Amino acid sequence: MSAAGNILIIGAGPAGTRAAEVLVGQGLRPILVDEAPASGGQVYRRQPPGFLRSTKLRYGFEASKADALHDCFDGLRERIDYRPDTSVWSIENKTAFTLGPNGVDRIPYDALLLCTGAVDRVLPVPGWTLPGVFTMGGAQIALKAQGCAIGKRVVFMGSGPLLYLVAYQYAHAGAKVAAVLDTARLSDALPVLPGLLIGGLTLAKGLWYQNWLRFHGIAVRRGVRPLVIEGDSRVTGFSYRSAGGQERHIDCDALALGWGVKPECQLAELAGCDMAFDAMARQWLPSSDAEGRASAEGVYLAGDGAGIMGADAAEYRGELAALALLADQGKSSDVARRAHLKHKLSRQMRFRIALERALPYPQGLAAAQPDDTIVCRCEGVTAGDIRLGQSLEPQEINRAKAFTRVGMGRCQGRMCGIASAEILAAHKGVPLAEVGRLRGQAPIKPLNIAIGGAAADDDPDRAASI
Ligand SMILES: Cc1cc2nc3c(=O)[nH]c(=O)nc-3n(C[C@H](O)[C@H](O)[C@H](O)COP(=O)(O)OP(=O)(O)OC[C@H]3O[C@@H](n4cnc5c(N)ncnc54)[C@H](O)[C@@H]3O)c2cc1C
Repeated sequence: MSAAGNILIIGAGPAGTRAAEVLVGQGLRPILVDEAPASGGQVYRRQPPGFLRSTKLRYGFEASKADALHDCFDGLRERIDYRPDTSVWSIENKTAFTLGPNGVDRIPYDALLLCTGAVDRVLPVPGWTLPGVFTMGGAQIALKAQGCAIGKRVVFMGSGPLLYLVAYQYAHAGAKVAAVLDTARLSDALPVLPGLLIGGLTLAKGLWYQNWLRFHGIAVRRGVRPLVIEGDSRVTGFSYRSAGGQERHIDCDALALGWGVKPECQLAELAGCDMAFDAMARQWLPSSDAEGRASAEGVYLAGDGAGIMGADAAEYRGELAALALLADQGKSSDVARRAHLKHKLSRQMRFRIALERALPYPQGLAAAQPDDTIVCRCEGVTAGDIRLGQSLEPQEINRAKAFTRVGMGRCQGRMCGIASAEILAAHKGVPLAEVGRLRGQAPIKPLNIAIGGAAADDDPDRAASI
């Protein structure tokens, strides 16, 4: 334990790494926990030992940033208490509960930096539970971490920057991309052009990916509406409605599906942070000030887990939150650096808002799904179950959970939470914020029942919450 007390960072991506760097620079030794086997987070995920593809091949234009972040982490490695392969599955009374290579453990903290990043934002479409359907991020991980494609003829469907990036990465690596189907329209981007131009190089890269795909003869369609993913025992095709209203079919053996990413914020909720509805994310997010201070004492939020802003911003926010923590502990104030970081972040935020409008989330798509579409794949709950469940009781998503088990499975609502709330809100004819959110509950990550039992034996008061 340092003089500043135990400082716990959860997440070794861009935000967590830069936060650790600042703290180590002040002579502190934070504990850094990550469920991944190596640092880098989602964007700069490392390949397994023994894999030898170059960083250029894996990260493309971002190779130098990936190298810089990995080098930074490797330089810190001996000066932090790093615990890879370790999931945090609950937080209570300033203690994090973990599951790692040596079983369950608890880590008391005085200050907590949550750098938990994001997960894919997916929407249910008929057939999306067939083998061969992956989330966009899952498809990217297969390629980035292990050099595998998810199929021989892959359709990329959704919207957001990852759609074009991952399709490009696949095609560039030699995989067959059958089509790139975007639910956004070109006309969505035109009104927000000035905001998009703030993105500079990032915007240029996005345009490059799209043009490269077209130049290489890959069909890129905008303004589409997904209809059904076809197949019996695995994907064989995909039908969609074109911008012009015609029904189209495309043969494929795999499909990557995703509408951007969403903050991973269940731990913030368990740590006692106030949550507020964010209209842009269409999700409840933990509140924090401009430097990442959350409402719960001693808790700081950084990176995409505090709201999606991308990888560069995650680095700035990690550094800023750690500087805020040091300032709060009277260790170092570095006012100038904090002001500089906030200035950079405010520019990034303007770009982010424009990007969200240019590649909008398809509001109404989840709510339009037929009754027999599975929404919660862990528990097999359909759109119809959610509509029916709520005819019994008040208009609130946790009541739907109690009646139908939506969000009670392995993902704890991470995948189905947004869609089920949208279906319910539309069915009841109320704004999305009014149906509330699936409350974060421990264990937020799957826990072996024997381990859960052992943890409960260890502390019977907590047995009920597991
Ligand atoms: C699948 C996926 C792929 C992406 N690919 C790209 C890309 O190619 N390019 C791009 O610009 N952006 C990409 N993004 C967005 C990108 O993740 C972020 O902008 C950036 O990585 C954010 O950095 P971060 O440090 O906030 O979070 P992350 O990089 O996501 O790091 C968060 C870390 O927290 C860990 N963690 C989370 N919860 C727990 C827990 N309960 N216990 C222990 N550890 C935990 C995770 O294992 C992870 O390593 C991707 C996002 C996803 C979800």
